[in-house]
Amino acid sequence: MTGHGDPLAGLAGQEHAVKRLNAIAHDPPQSIVVEGGDAESRLALSLYWAMRLNCASGHVKRHGPCGQCPACRQIADFAFNDLIFFDGREGLIKVQPVRDMRPTWGQPPNGDGYRVTIFSEAQMFMTEAANALLKSLEEPRPGNVFVLAAPQRERLLETLVSRSWVVTLSWPDTRENAPEITEWTTALAAFWRTGRGWFQRTSAKGAVDKNLAMQVVLGMQRELREAMSGSNATPLSAELARTYDARGLRRIGLILDQAQDALNTQVPVNPAMVLDWVATRMA
Ligand SMILES: [Zn+2]
Repeated sequence: MTGHGDPLAGLAGQEHAVKRLNAIAHDPPQSIVVEGGDAESRLALSLYWAMRLNCASGHVKRHGPCGQCPACRQIADFAFNDLIFFDGREGLIKVQPVRDMRPTWGQPPNGDGYRVTIFSEAQMFMTEAANALLKSLEEPRPGNVFVLAAPQRERLLETLVSRSWVVTLSWPDTRENAPEITEWTTALAAFWRTGRGWFQRTSAKGAVDKNLAMQVVLGMQRELREAMSGSNATPLSAELARTYDARGLRRIGLILDQAQDALNTQVPVNPAMVLDWVATRMA
């Protein structure tokens, strides 16, 4: 599609979500939330939606966007004049750039399709910016649609989610955790159950560096995905599925996401404290 890789490659194995979007493309909702998957597949589905709503091919209804027409190619290059892109992967989404777009959102699109505004990793919204967007959603203008992509809908302002149509991507493929990580994740789940056997791990001198903390968080996310999908491929994921209902599992996911964000920030954090925070939030 373009010289630098296929931007839709992240949709492999996500046919279910693509089908759901195709089914509503004839009358697109003003706002959709794209959750689940990983950051790459969320962005890919967001771009797919922009192409689906703007592709000039006569076959788009039956076969999806062509990837070849000017609209499809320009969307893939982020150079389409009815595509507005806010990139939460690069840091917080602040209020002023959102406010600056409000006059544009009040206008019809430039072309024959839809003006699509994508907020990639929209959990990076600052509250004020999210509220500014909410104002625009409250004054809908024909031809303007919005995409909020985030790991989980719970990471977004509830008033934004309640105005949106939600599509959930499948979780990425599971790889088994290394045995030393499984020791940590198993101890974490045991602490959630019993309130015991955790702090001696994290308080041991030099036991937890940032890399290990991240491995434990990612490892627990992997177990959680297994538990949520019902495949229960590991003893720990089976135990999680037995112990928690769907809401409980989603709550764990939210806590792990926040821990991941904390470990990813440039601000120095104490990785052992991040793990302790994860432990105590669910205990
Ligand atoms: Zn096309």
